[in-house]
Amino acid sequence: MTPEHLVYACTSDIAGKTRGKGFPATDFDKRLKRGIGWAPTNVQLTCFDAIAPSPFGALGDMVLIPDPATRVTLREPELGLAEDFVLGDIRQTDGTPWYCCTRSILRDALDRLERVSGLRLMAAFEHEFQFTGTQPPIGRAYTLAGFRARRDFCERLVAAMRAAGLEPDTVMKEYGVDQYEVTNGPAIGLAAADQAVTLREIVQAVAAASGDEVTFTPLRDPAGVGNGVHIHMSLVAADGSPATYDPSGPHNLSAAAASFIGGLLRYIDQYLALTAPSVVSYTRLTPHRWSAAYNNLGVQDREAAVRICPLSAMSDIDRARQFNFEFRAGDASASPYLQLAALVHAGATGIEAGLSCPDATEEDLSLLSSEALASRGLARLPQTLEAALERFARGDVAAQWFPAGFIEVYQAHKQGELAFLEGKTEAEICAAYEAAY
Ligand code: GLU
Ligand code: MG
Repeated sequence: MTPEHLVYACTSDIAGKTRGKGFPATDFDKRLKRGIGWAPTNVQLTCFDAIAPSPFGALGDMVLIPDPATRVTLREPELGLAEDFVLGDIRQTDGTPWYCCTRSILRDALDRLERVSGLRLMAAFEHEFQFTGTQPPIGRAYTLAGFRARRDFCERLVAAMRAAGLEPDTVMKEYGVDQYEVTNGPAIGLAAADQAVTLREIVQAVAAASGDEVTFTPLRDPAGVGNGVHIHMSLVAADGSPATYDPSGPHNLSAAAASFIGGLLRYIDQYLALTAPSVVSYTRLTPHRWSAAYNNLGVQDREAAVRICPLSAMSDIDRARQFNFEFRAGDASASPYLQLAALVHAGATGIEAGLSCPDATEEDLSLLSSEALASRGLARLPQTLEAALERFARGDVAAQWFPAGFIEVYQAHKQGELAFLEGKTEAEICAAYEAAY
């Protein structure tokens, strides 16, 4: 008997987990209409598998409808891969989007951006991760030697990315212990987040194929460096032309891009619980870790919440197409759909309100008093998950961006995650997230 080829239909949920159900590949076309059955309470499965209090209990039935454009088929014995999965939307049985479907939440945000500005978002997620269970020699940060130690993995990863429809950009040995970074090319709208979900799964699959384990946890060890997810963004007009660059604007930004960034920074405290949603996210978001600790704009500054990326006169790509800005206060404990939805809503709110782009900071903000920061419109970001959740729930703006009932479900989910960690030491909490992501 030969094994039967199965497809796994998935959602990326509040826990940032890719969960779903399998079915025979021969049923693929039928499943595009029928979908697969999905229980509402699944959304309360935390990253630790404990189920947080759920308003749905054991009741209700949803349908997960696969989007064929997202299917990833990697049946590659040479790479040790036998993947076949497809991402999709969770709908009610009458076909309407379910209010806790993260992909539908992002679609709403992108539609809003297009309505208020006539523009679309182009984005690329840059991911950092670490191999676990290894003690490589020190002295390998950014080195060829460190890359060589994982060249085989990197080459298999890039082949798998290409086969999955992602455009490989760069792969490097990062600073941390056995830490690597991979970047893929940008995509428009939903596809950018679909690709981030896919990338995380492919990294895990390629590592597992050679018996290695990797983690995307925001922070393995408080004494070490974090694993960030940096989200690069630019705006694109309806005809596909770049709409971020204007040499007469502040920091070369077009009016729309300046207001978009104004929104990102104005509301960051209210939506941070969605882009950095774990307990250890907040240990990573502290000064001097090259992450982000303040609501500041930086020009080529790696400690800014939003960084305007450099333009190179030597590139074969013209300036307007190169130009992008990067959100650095995110990590892989979040669903890419919710991360991007929060950023797009913040940006769209900035455009609607005609917010201006704040001045860029150039100094070490951790040396300034909170009064000195406040006089320049700057503030430390929420310093714990609880504080960030509180801002999200009480905030007057970000709470309006999501469907009725979503915030309550999100808060209950995160309270369940916090309850699981109660009484654990910092080291145990780090270990729990390392295993979960
Ligand atoms: N590892 C850093 C972070 O947690 C980022 C380092 C870099 O600039 O690439 O975001
Ligand atoms: Mg990096």
